[in-house]
Amino acid sequence: MIKFEEISPSDFFYRNKEIAGFENPAKACYTIVREFLENSLDACELGGFLPEIEIYMKSVNIEEKRLRIKVIDNGIGVPHDKIPLAFGKILYSSKYVLRQHRGIFGLGGKMAVLYSQITTNNPFRVISATPNNGYISFYELKIDILRNEPIILKRSKIINQNGWHGLILECEFIGDYLLSKKKIFEYLFQTSIAVPYARIYYQDYEGNALLFERKTDKIPPIPEETLLHPKGVDLEMLKRLIKINPNLPLNRFLAKNFQRIGQKAAEEILKLANIEFEKPVSKLTEEEIVRLYNVMKSYPFKRPSANSLSPLGESFAIGIKETFNPEFLSYDMREPSSFEGHPFIVETAIAYGGDIPIPEQNEINLFRFANKIPLIYDSYNDVSMKVIKNINWSIYKLNIYQEPIAFFVHICSTKIPYKTLGKEYIANQPEIYKEIELSIRKNARLLSAYINKKRIIEYQKIRYKYLKEYIEKIANFACILANEDPKKIKNNIVKLVEINDAS
Ligand code: ADP
Ligand code: MG
Repeated sequence: MIKFEEISPSDFFYRNKEIAGFENPAKACYTIVREFLENSLDACELGGFLPEIEIYMKSVNIEEKRLRIKVIDNGIGVPHDKIPLAFGKILYSSKYVLRQHRGIFGLGGKMAVLYSQITTNNPFRVISATPNNGYISFYELKIDILRNEPIILKRSKIINQNGWHGLILECEFIGDYLLSKKKIFEYLFQTSIAVPYARIYYQDYEGNALLFERKTDKIPPIPEETLLHPKGVDLEMLKRLIKINPNLPLNRFLAKNFQRIGQKAAEEILKLANIEFEKPVSKLTEEEIVRLYNVMKSYPFKRPSANSLSPLGESFAIGIKETFNPEFLSYDMREPSSFEGHPFIVETAIAYGGDIPIPEQNEINLFRFANKIPLIYDSYNDVSMKVIKNINWSIYKLNIYQEPIAFFVHICSTKIPYKTLGKEYIANQPEIYKEIELSIRKNARLLSAYINKKRIIEYQKIRYKYLKEYIEKIANFACILANEDPKKIKNNIVKLVEINDAS
């Protein structure tokens, strides 16, 4: 007999750890650092606080590879009664709204604590205080995997004496630190490029301590929440919205739930779909919903608003300059664009010289970021790598494999088309591909012009040096030929060389 059963979301992720970046003890170790750090950065930025984050990696038992991680931030914290669900219920998140943030599915931090529990069977600890709230909350929690519910083991509140706000998370897990260390360092290093307004301190049990100092006090503006763009909606979503607002007349329903639909557009859409304007949405038939959906797909709406996005802007250039001290840097931000109803902005930079290394054999120096997260793994499958490889660099007279050139690409969007839940590389989405290409080409032209000029100046210098050495002889020959005073000819030649040199 075939047996059917239903499993909870936490059970699903328990059985399929690898899709969220926990496929082996080394990757798990890296993913845990990353998810906690990303949650902390999101929490600081949402409150407009300059991030101060400390991460401690301790060893509990070297042979068993049992580690303990503690992350401290100064973000907005989680309200007392929401803590158990925020950390103990998979797919529970404050980030389902349409706004750019690092988290995507209400999954990352919780997968980390779930992983901690299944490898050590120990509870995890959360200490949190929200701003301007008189107390600090302490929790010791576990997750009931089968029911996808938090289990509260301990909980208490104490008076917040000095107004601290933020969150401290601590858990034990089995992980291969030695194998993941390099990637963790690289991840922190690249985070400090994209988030130069953060101060990040990392310390491990081997005695390594990394401090990434804040390089600027300017935090990019906090993105706003936006409504869905009609093109980003599928039939299922449309039906859910109808269920939430059953009594609204159709024209009001459209204007209230979607951006870019005003009264006039709503009427035009309903006319095209041949549905009565004032009909309450709950009275729509299945066919009418499908007709409405089809018109919404083809109607020429304006592009989605980009208010919900937070590009790095000036911070990106500061982060790159302070980190690599390049001889030349060209930065470019594209105008907002969109795919499937989601707005996105591409920013790229090309840096040359300074501390930029010459790439290793046949490699390309490419630093990828998405919603301010560095992407470290799988660069060869990423859309940015495809763009760079497909450009014919000889037209820019640049050898990207052998010169100290580095590319930086940041994509921000309310939906990043990651190929995997582990958020490691971005799919080859045609609109995104095009924007990256245009931006990189613009920077490439400027770098090409800079290097060209540099080559000309160097050539002039060599020429000048050479001419200076032989100027006496040239003047003597010339005066014999021209029957002139050698002194005058020499002065004229010097002037000519100097003019060329200055040009
Ligand atoms: P996601 O980040 O995708 O929403 P997580 O499981 O990582 O999922 O986090 C769940 C929720 O817990 C977040 O949406 C956020 O509201 C809250 N949270 C997690 N970490 C922090 C933190 N350091 N400070 C404040 N809130 C946090
Ligand atoms: Mg998260």
